[in-house]
Amino acid sequence: MIIIGAGIAGLSLGWQLARRGLAPTVIDAGTIGQGASHAAAGYLQPGLDPSPLTDLEWDSLRATPAFLADLEAETGLSVDFRTDGQLRIGFAGDEAEIRADHDIRRAASWDVTLMDGAGARALEPALSPEVTIACLLNDVSWVDGRRLCTALARAITARGGQIIEHCPALALTHERGRVTGVKTPKGHMPSDRVAIAAGHRFDRIKGLPADLPASIPVRGVILALACPTPLFTRLVKRPDGILCPRSDGRLILGVTKNPGDMRDFPDAGAVQALLAGAIRAAPALADLPFLEATHAFRPFMPDDALLFGAHEGLGGLYLSLGHASDGYLRATAVSERLATEILG
Ligand SMILES: Cc1cc2nc3c(=O)[nH]c(=O)nc-3n(C[C@H](O)[C@H](O)[C@H](O)COP(=O)(O)OP(=O)(O)OC[C@H]3O[C@@H](n4cnc5c(N)ncnc54)[C@H](O)[C@@H]3O)c2cc1C
Repeated sequence: MIIIGAGIAGLSLGWQLARRGLAPTVIDAGTIGQGASHAAAGYLQPGLDPSPLTDLEWDSLRATPAFLADLEAETGLSVDFRTDGQLRIGFAGDEAEIRADHDIRRAASWDVTLMDGAGARALEPALSPEVTIACLLNDVSWVDGRRLCTALARAITARGGQIIEHCPALALTHERGRVTGVKTPKGHMPSDRVAIAAGHRFDRIKGLPADLPASIPVRGVILALACPTPLFTRLVKRPDGILCPRSDGRLILGVTKNPGDMRDFPDAGAVQALLAGAIRAAPALADLPFLEATHAFRPFMPDDALLFGAHEGLGGLYLSLGHASDGYLRATAVSERLATEILG
């Protein structure tokens, strides 16, 4: 079995297969987890619209703690999974929106608590006196995606799988309606089962079925500050972004969402806007060391479709595409269901 793409989609599938006895070969054009998976804040928050996709996201959220605990036990690596919830904060003028969001979530059985600015500061003392309202969403958790990809890669190889970096899939090969392998610069790699989990660049691979739509990359910029003495326990959601604490002393400030913007660098305007929003929410952030600005492209598909499962027209081809803004949220359920389908 070959998996194209060593991001969260390909690696989570790879481990699900490996732990069931089918050790795959995962190939990546670059290095492990350096696509969109490298940039993600990693928070796990299902959608609000009642839909099969939202149901899948809830299933995934519920299954994630056990999935990650198994992975940590197997590898001895921490993935910094945090379950302290999300505090949505607002300033003067945001009250009606936060109340309405609270009411909708409560009606949908979310575990939510509304509070005023003083209540928010009692939970998170670093918040600005400007914060007038907040809502605690206890269901939201988050994970360090970089650690998670590293741990998955280690677990795959420990179970006999292979990960080959700097090995782009140039073309999918097939004969008489069945997959026969993958053409790479290192030669043809034969296999009767291939999964494509190549994020926003999957459509550059030649030989794909004609019915696969092109990917829609949606750029995002995200920052990190060094925050060795933790300032926040919860993930804070501002009207214009997030503050996401990591146990290793980083504080992640995100994120922009720029459809149609293919600039291949983190632009100064985005950095300025993210810093300004974060410092308004918590003025003490202005004194912290700036560590990193990163950008990446979320892999959207037309109509925000999530494509996973066997391709109907080409035997032996499996897809894990369209993870959009929620690849970490969906990874547990998607990889589990896809592995079950592949193994029959
Ligand atoms: C700024 C930002 C913040 C985000 N925050 C969150 C969040 O908080 N929570 C959440 O759940 N999601 C979040 N996301 C979305 C999440 O990052 C993506 O949904 C997820 O990473 C997609 O994973 P993937 O494996 O499909 O793609 P990728 O991580 O992009 O991996 C695809 C891999 O395929 C490789 N590849 C491409 N073409 C080829 C080829 N021809 N041959 C071999 N390899 C190839 C690439 O090198 C890459 O390593 C965020 C995204 C961004 C950009």
